[in-house]
Amino acid sequence: MDGLRAAQVKVEVLTPADLQREEPFLARDLPGGLYFPQDAQVQPMLACAALLKAAKTLGATFLPQTALLSVELDEKGKVRAAVTGAGRIETPRLVNAAGPWSSPLAGLVGLDLPTRPRKGHIIVTEPLPKIVWHKVFEGSYADTVNSGEAALQVASVVEATKSGTILLGSSRQLVGFDPAVDTLVLKAIARRAVRFYPVLAGVQALRAYAGFRSFTPDHLPVIGESKQAPGFFINTGHEGAGIGLGPISAKLLSQLILGQPPALDPVPFRPERFERVGAV
Ligand SMILES: Cc1cc2nc3c(=O)[nH]c(=O)nc-3n(C[C@H](O)[C@H](O)[C@H](O)COP(=O)(O)OP(=O)(O)OC[C@H]3O[C@@H](n4cnc5c(N)ncnc54)[C@H](O)[C@@H]3O)c2cc1C
Repeated sequence: MDGLRAAQVKVEVLTPADLQREEPFLARDLPGGLYFPQDAQVQPMLACAALLKAAKTLGATFLPQTALLSVELDEKGKVRAAVTGAGRIETPRLVNAAGPWSSPLAGLVGLDLPTRPRKGHIIVTEPLPKIVWHKVFEGSYADTVNSGEAALQVASVVEATKSGTILLGSSRQLVGFDPAVDTLVLKAIARRAVRFYPVLAGVQALRAYAGFRSFTPDHLPVIGESKQAPGFFINTGHEGAGIGLGPISAKLLSQLILGQPPALDPVPFRPERFERVGAV
């Protein structure tokens, strides 16, 4: 609590009665909770579309569905060009922001970046009358995020959307890039959600999906320029918080690229804490 407050995160302690007032459909046997009044929700695809529009207004060019295939380095090992599915682009700077795929892309310049895909499943319920008012997650959620466990871990996250559906999470597994939706994981998520919201027991699931988060061994993002391949910038490893952290991490990266004073201390995020030279 003190750590949160020192970081200017507002937090209030809720008694069982407060919990019932804030979330009337929560299970009645919970001992209390914490409320974060600054917390907010965003629809990630709409946020992405808005950022794309803003960037285009500022002169950015986009090449959708275009893969980076290789990176040309000069005789000093500095970035010279990106070779993409749409041709060669001469540039002294390149940003590897490929999320869970950042490690293979770092391999294009011979860097061994130890990020790994951390799989997560989500269940989307049928549209429902209002039963969830806040984004609610159980206290052990932080433990699952901060663990390095490869096996399945589940901690309940329940949040409603504007359309009335409810999103149920969360699962974490280090099982490579296997995109299959696993019904055993869905059952574990559903069971946990019903523990906190018994009313969900009779609700239909509309769909479920799995995705990958970019996991780093020390649970911090990787933001900055590679020491071993100058001009090759990295912005990845945001795990399950890349939507929330995206704007500040992009701001920090842009300041590092432009040589401006950084908005926050970049040292904990430096790529060289992991960099090992691999085979090009
Ligand atoms: C189940 C689940 C729930 C989550 N919940 C939350 C949440 O509640 N809040 C939150 O903040 N975050 C959440 N996240 C995490 C969030 O989605 C990620 O942190 C975020 O998407 C990372 O953004 P990114 O742009 O770094 O990477 P990504 O969104 O993964 O994008 C990487 C891009 O790189 C592209 N790419 C790959 N290879 C190449 C190549 N060779 N050339 C060109 N492009 C390439 C990919 O196609 C992809 O478009 C969740 C993730 C999952 C899986």
